[in-house]
Amino acid sequence: MRNLYIHVPFCDGKCDYCAFYSEPSPDAAAIRRWLDRILFQLEESAPRLGNAETVYFGGGTPSLLPEDVLNRLFSAVRAAVPAAVEISIEANPFTVTPEKASVLASFANRVTLGIQSFAPALLEAVGRRAHAGPVPLEAVRNLREAGLRNLGLDLMYGLPGETPELWRRDLELALELAPEHISAYSVTPEPGTPFARRVAGRPEDDALSETMWEQAGTILGAAGLPRYEISNYARHGFESRHNSNVWHGQTYLGLGPAACSFDGTDRWTQAADLRAWLDGAPPEIDRIPRRARLGEILMMGLRTVRGWTKLEFEEETDCTWDDFSGPLNELAGRGLVTLTEDTVAPTERGLAFWNDVAEMLVFAP
Ligand code: SF4
Repeated sequence: MRNLYIHVPFCDGKCDYCAFYSEPSPDAAAIRRWLDRILFQLEESAPRLGNAETVYFGGGTPSLLPEDVLNRLFSAVRAAVPAAVEISIEANPFTVTPEKASVLASFANRVTLGIQSFAPALLEAVGRRAHAGPVPLEAVRNLREAGLRNLGLDLMYGLPGETPELWRRDLELALELAPEHISAYSVTPEPGTPFARRVAGRPEDDALSETMWEQAGTILGAAGLPRYEISNYARHGFESRHNSNVWHGQTYLGLGPAACSFDGTDRWTQAADLRAWLDGAPPEIDRIPRRARLGEILMMGLRTVRGWTKLEFEEETDCTWDDFSGPLNELAGRGLVTLTEDTVAPTERGLAFWNDVAEMLVFAP
């Protein structure tokens, strides 16, 4: 396994739009039980992780874990994944005290702060705890003072009532914090969430969403963080290695409830329920037919600006992309990808209309 993901399924409350698995307001006993099982699984998986190059702690809110729990988790990961060069952890600005920042930066070399928006009214409109002005600033200062060199900020756009002017303001405020990386996703009404129920029946404003996506590319690009994936922007050399590896078909092991794994052939997902996962519920296995798997790997790589070289695709899959020459030529004809003998990469239009690219690669005969 070349990448490790650990899901920390705990949050302080539940945002209205969130479809990730997490337990709001966990008690200390639940956190201890989760940690014990993760430590057990890490030890068990260590023989498969010796060459893994990235670790990603996602959630949920990993930074909600108490400092002693983080320290025990980090020592176990250090022992199981000795070759890791990129260790990322997601953090909520409310949790990043100087003490927490020092523990996070003692092991992770990349921290991403879930800011989402700097406008309290926009956060409240999607049921997310609104941080007052100084909270993100203090979190960033604490992380930098702890020695962190690779800081990411996560933002959302398309929030109810948000205008292009408000989105521009959020982008500018984010840049004032001098991050190395920004992720910017449009808020989506995920089925089953309170937010989806609230907006049910209202038409989505695709034109506004496209305008905001273009704004992000222009403003962040001009500030030295060009887009390198549909929703991700970074200074040169600070692109997320974990996500880039996963988008390019590499194997990954996911530990924790709801975590996904991929071994190059099959995908499996752990039970999305803490109790069931603690009781050892078997994962759900998705055996993906060969052609569908290759189509998925090809389309995921086309989320990135660099796309694929023929050689890289062959190395990751042990197959050529010859089976897909029909759909690739058609996508090139429609101006969605640039295709040469040895490379394929999305055009700007191909990134904006990636769903069309994906559909053609996965469903083409
Ligand atoms: S903090 Fe993140 S993971 Fe937790 S409920 Fe909110 S969106 Fe979901």
